[in-house]
Amino acid sequence: MKHLKEEKTLVVLKPDAVQRALVGEILSRFERTGFKIVGMKMAYASKELAGEHYADDEEWLISVGEKTKQSYAAKGIANDEEPKSIGQRIRQQLMDFISMSPTVAFVLEGNDVINKVRVMIGGTAPNSALPGTIRGDFGFDSYGLADAAGRPIQNLIHASDSVESAKREIAIWFKEDELHSYERVDEALNYRIA
Ligand code: UDP
Ligand code: MG
Repeated sequence: MKHLKEEKTLVVLKPDAVQRALVGEILSRFERTGFKIVGMKMAYASKELAGEHYADDEEWLISVGEKTKQSYAAKGIANDEEPKSIGQRIRQQLMDFISMSPTVAFVLEGNDVINKVRVMIGGTAPNSALPGTIRGDFGFDSYGLADAAGRPIQNLIHASDSVESAKREIAIWFKEDELHSYERVDEALNYRIA
């Protein structure tokens, strides 16, 4: 069995984060937390890669559509469109968005990194993401604003949400020889067993 410190997650700084010059700011939060960068690149995603990343997966399409519907319901706005068809539309928009200009992709490694990074990035919509989170601190976009503009929510960052998705997504963005193994100076302290 792998050591707990070997858990990995994929993070992609989307085109809005790169264009707004927030790469260093965001990356440093993860470094300071103690996570190890084991792979990193600037990548101009092709449509093909974007389509693999935002896979045509029924369950995910429905969950994405449900988010939009819930945000409208919370505002008392009627919307009778099927979640799946909303999800399909957003998937197309996401594929265009993530491939519109360069991204910075990296793989982080560390104890419970998948969950912790999700906590650090905050909720999907920046207008309601908590302060202190990346989306909460650096954005204000909302479902309504994005929908009105016919684009996906600009929320700066993608992070894998489960062990399975991390494995799948890392393989899409990185070749095996682009991932590296080395020691951080604080590793002995962080992972010492009494
Ligand atoms: N998204 C959107 N509208 C929605 C749901 C999602 O524009 O109603 C976009 C948003 O950019 C989000 C991405 O689709 O980051 C992927 O959606 P997911 O539900 O996986 O959210 P995340 O895991 O990024 O928080
Ligand atoms: Mg997601």
